Amino acid sequence: MNESSIADLSGSEPVAFNAALAEPFNVLIVGVGGQGVIMVSKVLATLAQAHGFEVKQSEVHGMAKRGGTVFSHVRYGARVWSPTIAKGEADVLIALEWAEGLRWLPYLKRETGVFICDTKRIVPPFACLNRRPGATLRYSGETAEQVAAYVAEGYAIDATRMAEELGNERAANVVLLGALSTALEFPLPEWERVITQFVPKKSVAVNMAAFGLGRSWIAEARTAAPAAEAPVRPAPVHTPYAPRLEITAEWCKSCDICVKLCPERCLRLNAERVVELFAPEKCTGCRLCEWLCPDFAIRVHLDAEAVPEGITP
Ligand code: SF4
Ligand code: SF4
Repeated sequence: MNESSIADLSGSEPVAFNAALAEPFNVLIVGVGGQGVIMVSKVLATLAQAHGFEVKQSEVHGMAKRGGTVFSHVRYGARVWSPTIAKGEADVLIALEWAEGLRWLPYLKRETGVFICDTKRIVPPFACLNRRPGATLRYSGETAEQVAAYVAEGYAIDATRMAEELGNERAANVVLLGALSTALEFPLPEWERVITQFVPKKSVAVNMAAFGLGRSWIAEARTAAPAAEAPVRPAPVHTPYAPRLEITAEWCKSCDICVKLCPERCLRLNAERVVELFAPEKCTGCRLCEWLCPDFAIRVHLDAEAVPEGITP
C-alpha cells in the first residue's frame, strides 16, 4: 500500500452502532456523475431494509452521466419521518470525490460524524478556465490535515487507485463501501450478498476484492500513525511531451464532454460514436479530457523518455 496516498485523518475508534436506532442513522453519499453514488446508496438502503429498519432515501442525480454533482441521503431506523438529512445531522459522510466531500462537510455531525473520502479529484470545467500549459487549477486546496481538525473521525482514502490496481477503477465505490462497512454493524456476509446484487456478474470477484481492500485499509489506518499530508492538491499542468491517449472504447458513453472541452479541439466521436484523437499533433497532453470524462474512458500518458527531468510522466 502506498503510504503517501492515504491518510487516517484522526486515528480514532469506529462509531458505536446503536442496534435499536430510536433515532434514525443518517448516511450522506456524495460524488459526481458516473462514480456510482447511487449504487452505494442502494446497497446501504437494501441492507438496512433487509435488517428490518424503516428506510428513507432521496437523491439528486440529474447530471449523473455528465460529471455533475450527485448526492443521496439514506436514513434508517425504527421510524424515519423525513427523507432528507439536515445540516450537521449526518452520522457518516461518504464522498467519492475530494472536493465534493469538502463541500458537504457542514452536513456532518461535528462531534461524532465519520468522514470517508476518496482522494480522487475530478476537476470541473469552471476550474479549468485558464487552459494555458502550466496554469494552476482553481480546485480545492484544503489538505487532509486541515480537514482532520474539522471532523471527529475521518479517512482520506485513495480508493480509485486501489481499484485501479485491482484492474477495475470502477470498483472504487465498492472500496468505499468496504470502508463504510466498518462504521456500521451489518454482518459481513450481508454486505457481500447485497453488493453482489448490484454489480455486473462478470465483475463480482473484483468487487468483492475491492470491498475487502476498503475494510482492511480502514483497519490498518486505525492503528497506523496518520500520514503527514494527503496529496489532495492537483499538480500544476506542465508543458507535456509526446502525449499518448489510451481510450477504453467500451467505457465511452458518447457524451461528447471531452470533445467539447478539449482546448485544442483534437478529439471527435468516430462512426461508432466512440471518442478518438484525430489530430494527435495538436494534443498538448493537458489531461483535461482524462479529468473530465465521467466514465474514466480516457487515460493520458506522457512519453517518459521524452519528458524532461522534474516532470512526472
Ligand atoms: S471519452 Fe469523452 S465522449 Fe466518451 S464518455 Fe468520456 S467524456 Fe464522454
Ligand atoms: S490531453 Fe486531452 S484535452 Fe488535452 S489536448 Fe490532448 S486530447 Fe485535448
